[in-house]
Amino acid sequence: MLESHKDATVADRILNVNSISIGNWEWSRSPGGRALDELTKLNNLISSVSITDRPDSWKFSLDTSGTFTTSSLSKLINNLKYGIHSRNILLSRNKFVPQKVFIFSWRVIQLKIPVRSELDKKGIDLHTILCPLCDHHIETIDHVLVNCHHASSIWTQLLDWWNQNNTTISSINDVIISNQGFSHNSIGSSLWQATKWIACYILWKHRNLKVFSSKVWNPAMIISEIQTQTFSWISTRSRKKKSIDWHQWLLNPSFYVASPPNRMGIG
Ligand SMILES: [Zn+2]
Repeated sequence: MLESHKDATVADRILNVNSISIGNWEWSRSPGGRALDELTKLNNLISSVSITDRPDSWKFSLDTSGTFTTSSLSKLINNLKYGIHSRNILLSRNKFVPQKVFIFSWRVIQLKIPVRSELDKKGIDLHTILCPLCDHHIETIDHVLVNCHHASSIWTQLLDWWNQNNTTISSINDVIISNQGFSHNSIGSSLWQATKWIACYILWKHRNLKVFSSKVWNPAMIISEIQTQTFSWISTRSRKKKSIDWHQWLLNPSFYVASPPNRMGIG
């Protein structure tokens, strides 16, 4: 408030004399009282600061690089919001699934799906925190989407459909992140991952239908919906639109990842 020239720069006001920074003030009137206290503190602060003759610039002090990026800011907010142990997992996109499935998968892995145990942690009053499918275990994300026997029977059938009987699915990490089974084959691993993500999305949809619309959990219908939906989403996103045959997909989708060579130019 006491500055005479409101557009003065830092370089105008801090002079470097023999490697010591001193104030080169031009006040509109002499500071007194509390302002004098503040000036003393300011002089102490700048005495150890060395300034260069580069132009003034902004520095993002919350990141060690000094550069502002949205990812550094979002990491910071996540750490503050969810603690240092937040799940700092990078999920790469999968070109065979729609955006909404990718976002859902990301939310699953960040534990941001409103299962009853998570709502309870947020202090939301629920009449029960038990799994709406089995009504026996606490509803966590791992439980309702993977370990509940109603969900695990679906996964067993999907593994069978994909000839993946040596693969185990025992947590959401196995569903969303792991690419066991196809690590040698990138198209195979993308198709299998897309299938798992879409299955997870459909399982959650049917969980919600049961909770909010009192629909019956029907495993045969869910399997059939997963097979139809994976075919529809994956085939429209393949390089050659008609490269996947419905009957072949239904019979044995791993036919399309046989390697080498990759069949029919999927990808
Ligand atoms: Zn359950």
